[in-house]
Order: sequence, then C-alpha cells, then structure tokens
Amino acid sequence: MDRTLSPDQVEQLVAAAEQARERAYAPYSRFRVGAALLCESGDIVRGANVENASFGLCICAERTAVSTAVVQGRRDFIGIAIMTGSSPPSTPCGMCRQVLAEFCRDLDVVLCNDKGERLRTTLKALFPNNFDARLLQDGADTEPTP
Ligand SMILES: [Zn+2]
Repeated sequence: MDRTLSPDQVEQLVAAAEQARERAYAPYSRFRVGAALLCESGDIVRGANVENASFGLCICAERTAVSTAVVQGRRDFIGIAIMTGSSPPSTPCGMCRQVLAEFCRDLDVVLCNDKGERLRTTLKALFPNNFDARLLQDGADTEPTP
C-alpha cells in the first residue's frame, strides 16, 4: 500500500495543524505548536501544546494528538503535520518521536510554519533506531529481580 501522503492530504493536514495551533496553551514559552494526525480512515485528530507553570508537566502538540486519538480508539496513523512559528519549521522533540514510533514507524511527516514553509520527511528518517516492544521483551529478565 502506498502510504505517501497525497497533495490533498498534505493540504488538509497543514490546515488542521494550523487550526490546532490556535488552541495551543503556551503562556510561558509563547512557542505555540499545532499537530494533526491523519488516520487510515481519513479522520484527522488534532493536538496542541499545553504548558503548565510546573514546566515538567508541559505536553507537546504531537503527544496531545496521539493521546486524543488513542482514547478515541484510533492507532492507525499514516501522517502528521506539525505547525510552528519557527523557520525552518521545527521537528518533533525526541520524546514525541518515541511516542509516534510506538504506533507507526512508517509515518509521513510534514513540518510546516505560519510563513508557508513546508518540509516533508518521515519518522524513520527523523528517528531511525527507536526503542520498541521487541527490545523490551529481548532484554527482560527471566527471573524476578532479587
Ligand atoms: Zn515533543
């Protein structure tokens, strides 16, 4: 199956990420991020960064979108657009790359900003050697920890 996003899908995702970015709660960093995940069904799930005065509790837009999608019963992601105000467009942080990889290693990624710049890449290119369930099983002790 060709999992590459079509031009129409890219446009829909970028527009959804831009809408999601408007909902970001980023009073501390003022770095608003919107993310839009495309599911195989064609449904798009949005996420935005949500900050907190206790900075360690901040959550990125990508993980907000993934969490929302999973709660809705969706895990069949084929693409994501991530909208920021930075130039060049920002890449997802390491934590978000790991979370995205849990559900889709073949994810198409569109990095975009509010200046109209777009970069196309893939999760595999951004994060080639993720930790996964196979490694967890291979490295597990067979006996309980003493
Ligand atoms: Zn992140």
